[in-house]
Amino acid sequence: MIRYFDLTRQYKQIKNDLQSAVISVLDGGAYVLGKEVTDFESKFAKYCQTKHAVGVSSGTAALHIALLAAGVVPNDEVITVPFTFIATVSSIIYAGAKPVFVDVHPDTLVMNVDKVRDKITQKTKAIVPVHLYGQMVDMGPLMQLASEFNLKVIEDASQAHGATQESRSAGSIGDFGCFSFYPGKNLGACGEGGAIVTNSSKLAELAKVYRDWGQEKRYYHKYLGFNYRMDAIQGAVLGVKLRFLDEWTQSRQRIANYYKRNLDADKIKSPITLNNNNHVYHIYTIRTLERERLQQRLYEHGVETNIHYPIPVHLQECMRCLGYKRGDYPIAEKAANEVLSLPIYPELTESEQADVISKVNKQFER
Ligand SMILES: *Cc1c(COP(=O)(O)O)cnc(C)c1O
Repeated sequence: MIRYFDLTRQYKQIKNDLQSAVISVLDGGAYVLGKEVTDFESKFAKYCQTKHAVGVSSGTAALHIALLAAGVVPNDEVITVPFTFIATVSSIIYAGAKPVFVDVHPDTLVMNVDKVRDKITQKTKAIVPVHLYGQMVDMGPLMQLASEFNLKVIEDASQAHGATQESRSAGSIGDFGCFSFYPGKNLGACGEGGAIVTNSSKLAELAKVYRDWGQEKRYYHKYLGFNYRMDAIQGAVLGVKLRFLDEWTQSRQRIANYYKRNLDADKIKSPITLNNNNHVYHIYTIRTLERERLQQRLYEHGVETNIHYPIPVHLQECMRCLGYKRGDYPIAEKAANEVLSLPIYPELTESEQADVISKVNKQFER
């Protein structure tokens, strides 16, 4: 069976480095924030071309804090997309705001920036573009619109570590960039983790206060904060793994190019990458009208696949209170019925890649 994802392969390659990093934290006796986290924060900020990074306990925590630090308060509206992982939208609701959706672009499946202007009202405070699958939203026109209406922009870069657009890094263009280090992400901790990056010293300080119970001075709680701190062990692990990230990204891109060249283009739609984007392929998603059958047949033939995502957020059961219905976001709804993610991790061997392709193509032979 070719697994959709297998982290043990990466672990074997960097086992010694990881183990000594973790053991030194255990020996040091300080387990939350501290030197390992600070060191990782400065390396990650540099990696993202920003002045500051703030390590937190998850990507969701990063989004939640970024929204609060951006000044989002109850009854504000925040514009985002319905075709994303649920955390993008849940964090807006945690901040007390109302998520307002714009549909995605039919080619790239990321935010259709042309449709944002129509959704801006007196109540709009921020926009959350999601760099879905590892490809960035068209940030130029989005930033222009944001500055015209004085809106904050919070990039959800949870799937786009190291992605660039005209040589600018994901997360560095908006007021904030939010990252997840969930183990399966392109840069993953050995547990949960996340980060906020920003060029504003003021906003970075505010994010640090929010992640640690809203205190500027110990036990003097100015804001209603959270326990969203990053573990020292995760800081140490991420510090080790960051050194390999570019190499891993290149492997993902090699695999994506191989898939693109060899999939039967008459029958299967490969992902479309805009020319100005350096896509990091967190996920490689093909589209077909016969998705269920293809997934089942591939599984029977030993290829595990995944669906990102089967139900757009506006139609999720827990979001019923928002009052959306089927047909409201037709591009997202159509994508949810057609997308299928193929295995794409840096350690996937060439023979496994060839196997994936031949099995996918074979299902379409008549
Ligand atoms: C993974 C992910 C998140 C949430 O990150 P966690 O670390 O799991 O909290 C948010 N947005 C997107 C697009 C993601 O893929």
